[in-house]
Amino acid sequence: MNSRRDFLQKLAASAAALPFLSAHHAFGNTELPHATAQDPTLRVALMGLGGYASRVAEAIQSCKRTKITGLISGTPAKLADWGTRFGVPETSRYNYENFDRIKDNPNIDAVYVITPNALHHDQVIRVAKAGKHAICEKPMALNAIEGQEMVDACTKAGVKLLVGYRMHFEPKTVEVVRMRAAGEFGAIKFFQGQCGFRIGDPTQWRLDKDLAGGGALMDIGVYAINGSRYMIGEEPVWVTAQETKTDPVKFKEGVDETILFQLGFPSGAVASCLSTYSMGYLDRFFLNGEKGFAEMQPSTGYGPIKGRTNKGELTQPHVTHQTLQMDAMAGIILDGNTPPVPVDGHEGLKDLKIIDAIYRACATGTKQELNLS
Ligand code: NDP
Repeated sequence: MNSRRDFLQKLAASAAALPFLSAHHAFGNTELPHATAQDPTLRVALMGLGGYASRVAEAIQSCKRTKITGLISGTPAKLADWGTRFGVPETSRYNYENFDRIKDNPNIDAVYVITPNALHHDQVIRVAKAGKHAICEKPMALNAIEGQEMVDACTKAGVKLLVGYRMHFEPKTVEVVRMRAAGEFGAIKFFQGQCGFRIGDPTQWRLDKDLAGGGALMDIGVYAINGSRYMIGEEPVWVTAQETKTDPVKFKEGVDETILFQLGFPSGAVASCLSTYSMGYLDRFFLNGEKGFAEMQPSTGYGPIKGRTNKGELTQPHVTHQTLQMDAMAGIILDGNTPPVPVDGHEGLKDLKIIDAIYRACATGTKQELNLS
């Protein structure tokens, strides 16, 4: 192993440990526990070998306690290629018809579902029925009814359901959450989340309502929804929203191009967010409190995340997000660790309830009350 890779792995291991300190040590200056090669390893099957799964698979190569032991794909050539590349034997390669057989595979602890949004619900429920833990990409499902069914299925099967919220482990984000929780910004008054990019190929599944479940809000707006909750540290109680569309050919009925939404929180704090598929360079969080502020740009991309607070630049080192995430998730699944910002199915369900309410607010033009308990 070359020294740079060794250094990066050490960095990943120590940063991965960050979210798992006990409540007492959580944000103090105590020595950090390190994930070590001796810790039990999470053996993961990847489902849906597309663009994001490629990124996750590469990131897992630098993990201390996660490895790829299974593959599930509808494309036989990918199974062969990825199988060779990541050392997954033919006996642990499956397709969408036969993957229920993972229940008989003792080398798989969890399945990471990385398919188009509309497939998550059925696939996670099948994973749970096979007795394996499920990690599901965002958005967890198409709506809260589906999300609740997934949570219930995993509870019934006695397996964990986690959502791929990689920002919950990103060191600069974790530091801002720590500062906010410690009261360093004073009472929080305002959050702004702007999330968007210019989407290309009009034939991709992200622009097909049947597979995507919606448009930019499901895909990228969810970062502003989720971010408003962990940055403010409260659950919203109301939402208002407005939709605009400049290209009704590309963004067909049910596929949102741009949505502005506003959230109200019990303390009186408010959030103002923008989700779009038609503006570039939109990846910015701003948090304002009575005693200080935090601003991050980029705030949710693959990084490096950049940001500063009223106390100065955020200097935590960049580590590949998915490496941190997967080792952290190994700790959650295998050791029962509790991260400071939850990543479980209930967390995903709350975001789905907000998404449902935003679409209702757009359709009706009225303020929607939220009850996320
Ligand atoms: P891709 O289109 O790149 O890959 C999706 C893969 O799913 C395909 O390659 C295919 O793999 C499989 N698949 C199964 N059925 C279908 C179908 N009907 N149509 C298309 N693909 C199908 O998508 P992404 O990897 O970008 O996104 C997948 C999920 O990951 C989404 O939920 C997305 O929101 C999420 N994501 C999360 C990110 C994050 O930062 N957390 C970033 C990007 C995406 P195969 O051929 O192996 O069956």
